[in-house]
Amino acid sequence: MNTEARIIEPGQIEAPAGQIPFLRLAGPDVFKQRAERFRQLSQGHPFGGYLAFLATLAQAQQEALAHFPTVPLPGAEQQALCREHGMPVLGAQAWPRDAAWRAGLKEMLRHMATASLPGPASEAVSRLMQAGDAELEEIASKLLAGDLAGVGAQDMPFVAAALQVYWIHMAAALGEHAFGRLEQGGLCPVCGSHPVAGIVRVGGTEQGLRYLSCSLCATEWHMVRIKCSSCESTHGINYYQLEGSNGAVKAESCDDCNSYLKLMYMEKDSQVEAVADDLATLALDVLMDEAGKARGGPNLFFHPGSV
Ligand SMILES: [Zn+2]
Ligand SMILES: [Zn+2]
Repeated sequence: MNTEARIIEPGQIEAPAGQIPFLRLAGPDVFKQRAERFRQLSQGHPFGGYLAFLATLAQAQQEALAHFPTVPLPGAEQQALCREHGMPVLGAQAWPRDAAWRAGLKEMLRHMATASLPGPASEAVSRLMQAGDAELEEIASKLLAGDLAGVGAQDMPFVAAALQVYWIHMAAALGEHAFGRLEQGGLCPVCGSHPVAGIVRVGGTEQGLRYLSCSLCATEWHMVRIKCSSCESTHGINYYQLEGSNGAVKAESCDDCNSYLKLMYMEKDSQVEAVADDLATLALDVLMDEAGKARGGPNLFFHPGSV
């Protein structure tokens, strides 16, 4: 593992805040791109089987998103109130979920049932197809509250996938103007969830800017670099990468709160995708764990009981 010296100061190379796009909502092809990336990363990878499974699941998500029905959304008054108080408009735990997310889940399960899946995944598909509304809502509530260990490892990816589709659909339906900055810069302005990773972008006004990527709704929001996304400290920030890696994925760690978040550098690999590249670099998480650092945000496809 290599530690890299600090090379730039926060804000040093960035355009003034007003000129920077603060929010980037997930686009209509978000799951298609994620599926492609999963497929690419699965080639010759030690966890290739799981990455390929997630490619198929992301494809099912893409189809569910494309057919998603109209759902209730917060009205203009509620949106304004949230913006005024720095609260997420579509809070992952606060927002009353519409039954449409479960219909989306069932659609995805039917799609997945036609794919050739490993035994345990196939059993989870059959089980979830039969599961009652109350049971599914309970799993969803645990997942959205961050209690990943309380959710069955085989059920988690399917339920997480359905919730992602639902939240991305709602965020897109409201549009960027609905969302404002939160008090806590490290939480998603749309749903209040923790980021899965950060992306250092390339091109145009976004050149060299760091955007955090939401673990639930895939929204990207701007946060200055060399700043802990968990406690917002700018001191004791260090960078780690795997020996022999091309530097496209690094872990940014904080001495103040002992957490870390991965950063992905488009300059090193223009194809990086937060959720997929995070799962493809679990070896880095193992090293960070050995270094006594804890993840600053979850990956909803990575069950804490699986290592
Ligand atoms: Zn979000
Ligand atoms: Zn920190």
